[in-house]
Amino acid sequence: MQNSLWLQNAETISSDTLSTSVDCDVCIVGGGLSGIYTAYLLAKKGVNVVLLEAKSAPAIGTTGHSTGKLTPQHGVIYSKLLKFFSTEDVYTYYQTNKNAIESALKVASDDSFERVDSYLYATTVPGKQTIEKELYAYKELNIPGVETTETELPFDVTLALKMENTAQIHPTKFATHFLNLALKEGAAVYTNSRVTKVEIDEKFVLTENDSKVTFKKLVLCTHYPIESIKGLITTKLSIDRSYLLASQADNLLKGHYLSVESSSRTIRTALIGDTPYFIYGGSSHIAGEVENTQTYYETLKDEMQTTFNVPEPPFLWSAQDPNTPDLVPYIGQISEDTPDLYIATGYRKWGLSSSLVAGEILSSLTTNEDHQAAHLFSPTRDQFGKNFLKGLSTIGFVTANLAEGYLTRMEAPKCTHLGCKTRWNDGDETWDCPCHGSRYDKNGNVIEGPAVYPLKMKK
Ligand SMILES: Cc1cc2nc3c(=O)[nH]c(=O)nc-3n(C[C@H](O)[C@H](O)[C@H](O)COP(=O)(O)OP(=O)(O)OC[C@H]3O[C@@H](n4cnc5c(N)ncnc54)[C@H](O)[C@@H]3O)c2cc1C
Repeated sequence: MQNSLWLQNAETISSDTLSTSVDCDVCIVGGGLSGIYTAYLLAKKGVNVVLLEAKSAPAIGTTGHSTGKLTPQHGVIYSKLLKFFSTEDVYTYYQTNKNAIESALKVASDDSFERVDSYLYATTVPGKQTIEKELYAYKELNIPGVETTETELPFDVTLALKMENTAQIHPTKFATHFLNLALKEGAAVYTNSRVTKVEIDEKFVLTENDSKVTFKKLVLCTHYPIESIKGLITTKLSIDRSYLLASQADNLLKGHYLSVESSSRTIRTALIGDTPYFIYGGSSHIAGEVENTQTYYETLKDEMQTTFNVPEPPFLWSAQDPNTPDLVPYIGQISEDTPDLYIATGYRKWGLSSSLVAGEILSSLTTNEDHQAAHLFSPTRDQFGKNFLKGLSTIGFVTANLAEGYLTRMEAPKCTHLGCKTRWNDGDETWDCPCHGSRYDKNGNVIEGPAVYPLKMKK
């Protein structure tokens, strides 16, 4: 059923498949916004970059299935971050995102973004209290925010928190523009080139057809870290999936909205050509956990048609994103033992601005420059304490799913990552792995990792 508004309405770029051996300074695996923006910034510095993308075109993975909000208002975040990090670090989180957005917008194509305000809104008393806590954090951190009960929504809110003059993008157009700039600056881009093997010590990767890229530094922008790498942080990432629908609309909103209630909803509009669209989404759950996902689409469709009076949505899509235990993405060197291996992941559904942050940090670190926020985003940061327990519960989840899968889903194909039994997802017609979020199409081809090999389907 995957039918993203952004993929029907943008030109994508296909390149050659890698079919020879090449050498480069920096090899980037993964052509979503993270990989593309990193490639652009590195190529602009004159670095010899190779970008490898598994799909037929870049920016059609999670980036092309997002909501397209480009804002430092990452849901309710600042009040939560203050529990884990110093005030200075939390402000750095805000400022790094804000600066990365503003730098990218100066270069972005005019038809790929628009300026809007970002709103968090509540419809209940507990929701109002959540916003009050977030507002308190904004004040403590000196983040500009406006408290209001006036919104464009067709129902009363108990409180809303506005961050003014943020942005929203057409994610595929936005990313494709930066891909074009990266190509102009000399980056080499290969599509249909899935990396299946990574040799860190000998510094090369192999693609599906055994083509080889030898690198000085390797950057993994595969969304979820691909398998086969020693010491990876996979057990610290949980993955949430949610659903989006788009219908034609009568008018455009000046803001985009996110509810802070337990069943959160996201709202924005977009002008595609001359047609306004209303986009509505939510219904988050742990990826791979649910079989009957069609019900999520049905619930959202009913709500959007009833509350916002829009026609039947022709576009329905879903996507997933990994979370880190302390809410800050992992961007940087994976570990001190692997100095030439870098990663960007764990974006918690705020990966459009985080991809821009990743581009800035990774293009600095891989060229031996410092970045003032590198310590905060570093995957080697260690402040887990109670987060360690959350990590353990993720490990427990994998173990439980291995066992439960073998007992209850005997006929389902085994994930080629760690062997968990996959689950058939009837809404999207995919095989989903509940352990680390790998997804396969109905024929068993990988849609997203960590798996890199197709399912072995029974005849
Ligand atoms: C429902 C939903 C809505 C969202 N809305 C927003 C939003 O409004 N604002 C926001 O800031 N964020 C949002 N996000 C988050 C954001 O979309 C993602 O975090 C971001 O797009 C991730 O970008 P990426 O480049 O890391 O990953 P991707 O865009 O997924 O790119 C990774 C690429 O790596 C490729 N790849 C994987 N494995 C290999 C391999 N072995 N070899 C070669 N290539 C490989 C994939 O094919 C893919 O193209 C949303 C997320 C979800 C799930």
